[in-house]
Amino acid sequence: MFPVVFRKNLSKVKPYVPGKPIEELERELGISNASKIASNENPLGPSPRVIQAIEKALPNLHRYPDGSAHALTQALSRHLKVEPDRIFLGHGSNELIVRLGQMVLNPGDEVLFAEPGFVVYPTTAQLCEAVARPQPLRNFTHELKLFERAMTYKTKIAYIANPNNPTGTLVPLSEIEAFLKACPPHVLVVLDEAYYEYVDDPSYGGSLGLLAKYPNLAILRTFSKAFGLAGLRVGYGIGHPELVATFNKIREPFNVNSLAQAAAEAALGDLDHVKKIIDLNKSMRRELSDGLVRLGLKPVPSQTNFIYLEVPNAGDLYQRLLRKGIIVRPMGPGALRVTTGTEEETANFLTAFKEVLMTNSIRLNAQ
Ligand SMILES: *Cc1c(COP(=O)(O)O)cnc(C)c1O
Repeated sequence: MFPVVFRKNLSKVKPYVPGKPIEELERELGISNASKIASNENPLGPSPRVIQAIEKALPNLHRYPDGSAHALTQALSRHLKVEPDRIFLGHGSNELIVRLGQMVLNPGDEVLFAEPGFVVYPTTAQLCEAVARPQPLRNFTHELKLFERAMTYKTKIAYIANPNNPTGTLVPLSEIEAFLKACPPHVLVVLDEAYYEYVDDPSYGGSLGLLAKYPNLAILRTFSKAFGLAGLRVGYGIGHPELVATFNKIREPFNVNSLAQAAAEAALGDLDHVKKIIDLNKSMRRELSDGLVRLGLKPVPSQTNFIYLEVPNAGDLYQRLLRKGIIVRPMGPGALRVTTGTEEETANFLTAFKEVLMTNSIRLNAQ
């Protein structure tokens, strides 16, 4: 038996279950052309300029990175038109989610977030011995009135993924502002905009403009999705300079590695590449959604690079798709989340899913 006693809250933490790695499935099936549309990755990969920047940075791997990530912070400052002292960087925006919790939560404090939502929010609450207060979605969308109603004097942080993962829906800027207005000013409101670049709904966007008026607002974005750098782990936040200064005090001194810094800066220098990805996503999102409707399903209209759909027997459908070399993400027993892929991946998925649904319904009818 392992003799060390862990902090008691850790027993409540549910492990993060990542999408099945493509190499693992290929090994199991003995194939080489599996497709992974499970983790909301960009299917085209990073800009060629990113690869060049990494190659250029490689000979200096024996040096520590710039702990202040000066060049990347300056590049982001120009990109966002935000003062550099409002920008903070992390080992993916995952790190920022956890650190912000560690910065404001004392044991017994309360954390608001939506469910189904991003699992890192409750994990952070548990890690900090805080109380997770999940709020239901309405029509697959955040209902911030419920957040307002759930607020107590113990509430210290509200995480809002906008758009939401796994449902792909968004809250308009006007509702975000109404929530901030209703929120006591000591409650940190974290707007997690991981899918920001993919949104085309005109009611969205402009959250940066709220920062001056609401010092308790922090906005998180990432290079993992539209910029195609998930493997390098780099995300950023925008918030009040005092929040940034405190974050910089408690983070690891070299939390963003040198290759990630070089790559992210280069990625910001090739927005044409990002546009290509956004355009592909838009057409694949439509293709995928239309295809699912043709199969008699009701995909939730998405503003991201994935689609949420309720299905009976999600676990079974997931397994059957795996056997056809396609990895999607089961979301509990009643839903799947499917990432938009390339044209080929989208077409292959729709064909395979049709076959799987047919055998599934034949089997169900036979029971
Ligand atoms: C993908 C995602 C992130 C980004 O995570 P990184 O750590 O930056 O890779 C953050 N929040 C949500 C809701 C996500 O879906």
